[in-house]
Amino acid sequence: MNDWYNHNETEKSKNGLTEAAYDLFNTGVYMYVTCLDLEGVLVPEIWIAFAEETGIPEFRRTTRDEPDYDKLMKFRIALLKEKGLGLKEIQATISKIDPLPGAKEFMDELRSIGQVIILSDTFTQFAGPLMKKLGYPTIFCNTLEVAPNGEITGYKLRQSNGKFHAVKALQSIGFDTIAAGDSFNDLAMIKASKAGFLFRSTEKIIKDNPDIPAFTEYKDFLNAIKNVLNS
Ligand SMILES: [Mg+2]
Repeated sequence: MNDWYNHNETEKSKNGLTEAAYDLFNTGVYMYVTCLDLEGVLVPEIWIAFAEETGIPEFRRTTRDEPDYDKLMKFRIALLKEKGLGLKEIQATISKIDPLPGAKEFMDELRSIGQVIILSDTFTQFAGPLMKKLGYPTIFCNTLEVAPNGEITGYKLRQSNGKFHAVKALQSIGFDTIAAGDSFNDLAMIKASKAGFLFRSTEKIIKDNPDIPAFTEYKDFLNAIKNVLNS
């Protein structure tokens, strides 16, 4: 256990810092960035909510079912076109979505003890209202191509395998990373990180990756991250 852990409240307050800030600036925690997936981890799956809202079950397919993201997005875009639906309809659904119960509190505490970046395969046009509800954490995601009439015509990835490259880039400037997510597309960043976790993942992914600790409750998840930060 690091020394700072044993400092009492009086000693901490003498420094004129909050406890969290004291801990952050007096330990190696500063060397870590925690990289989190968004959908399924902090907020519900947007496309599943959209499937429920529209009553079109084919929209339920997510990266948890289809590992090939390009194939999945092309399927979604073709289905939207076929059904005459566009960005406006999806944003109307998103405006009704709240973060998963406990997600905001989890993020607030995690961000008080270290740096956090959300690495998501969602799109800027979807993420905005959800980021407001999470207190505007940092998020790196992708962009949709939208025609003036609101039709979604395509999507633009910043780079392929972006979550993996983001953790590698953070490591290249001297950070260790902790990564966590629920889907196939999170495994590369999890495996490339100093520590990685599955959160509310599928039975199959958990079974196929027995070496990655898996959690379903924020309290246990946060404790696991804290254990890495304090190790
Ligand atoms: Mg996810």
